[in-house]
Amino acid sequence: MENSPENCNVKVALHIRPLSRLERQNGGVECLDVVPGSAQVLMGPHKFIYDHIYGGGGSPSINMFPECVIPLLDALFQGYNGTVIAYGQTGSGKTYTMGTNPKESSNRGLTFQIMQTIFNKIETQKDESECQLHVSFIEILKEEVKDLLDSAVIERIETSDGNAENAVPGKPPVQVRKTTDGTVNLSGSTEVSVSTQKEMIACLEQGCLKRSVASTDMNSQSSRSHAIFTIILEQKDKNKGDENPIAGEEYRCAKLHLVDLAGAERVKRAGSEGVRLREGIQINKGLLALGNVISALGDDKKRKEAQHIPYRDSKLTRLLQASLGGNCKTVMIACVSPADFNAEETLNTLKYAQRAR
Ligand code: ADP
Ligand code: MG
Repeated sequence: MENSPENCNVKVALHIRPLSRLERQNGGVECLDVVPGSAQVLMGPHKFIYDHIYGGGGSPSINMFPECVIPLLDALFQGYNGTVIAYGQTGSGKTYTMGTNPKESSNRGLTFQIMQTIFNKIETQKDESECQLHVSFIEILKEEVKDLLDSAVIERIETSDGNAENAVPGKPPVQVRKTTDGTVNLSGSTEVSVSTQKEMIACLEQGCLKRSVASTDMNSQSSRSHAIFTIILEQKDKNKGDENPIAGEEYRCAKLHLVDLAGAERVKRAGSEGVRLREGIQINKGLLALGNVISALGDDKKRKEAQHIPYRDSKLTRLLQASLGGNCKTVMIACVSPADFNAEETLNTLKYAQRAR
């Protein structure tokens, strides 16, 4: 089933990070065994199979970009949307893997390699097509979408204790809206035009500074929001127009979403209560909906009747709707810690990711 061409559009990879120094100091031992030369992993009596496994005895992490992401970039230049999603508990390596925080990841993560590849490709095909890039950067916290590249909205976030009702006048909050052709747009989210990699990184940096983080008992950098950095590629074919002046230029526009999800840990474990607990429930709503959508996309019967794909169940899935399913390519990278004392959360992640496949 996984080899039929229509079904190749969702891939699931597992990324096992090394034991951290702290985990070693605390006597942590590894509880995951990758079956050598395969994409199977054993955890006690449980066995899981993915499209790829990186780290922890699987393939080297460096193979992730060519194997998982290059196909999405090729598709992007052909006009197809794509989505790369990092899933996992806080501290499992989502941000490290995605490289969506330039301060934390410098040039190690996928984002840097993606940018480099896109700009190289634009340069090499500049005689055939004219390209324009835009980026947007939003986060979803408590089912509310916030624009990380808009200073007016940024101010609203900082001065309102996260309460959107106190929004500064003038700029409406970003809303998920369905357009007449059925696709979902982030109406009002800022799309910044960029022409160099430096400018693109600057947008990423600006947005990261504005991301909402609050400490929980589990991890002081715990991120409770989903962050979506989107690269929009517009291409105009230079030659088509001359050959066939009536048909005019060929134009393509496609989006690549880089999604750093909120921590997948169970609310109880993070020692949350009150406001934090309510947020936790809303975060999990998005993760649950995403799991259901991706799982439905892998189900032939449901996929043929698009109305059975439950996109509408959360902001996250509504927002990504136009980039999940159909001809779009999706890669989910499930991130896990190998430490035995994270076993419970790791098992949850392994199950979630297996279901997605
Ligand atoms: P998350 O975003 O899921 O909360 P992070 O990406 O912040 O987790 O990773 C937690 C810590 O582990 C960071 O200090 C990061 O540098 C480190 N780390 C994560 N993945 C790896 C990896 N594959 N190799 C080395 N260090 C890693
Ligand atoms: Mg993170």
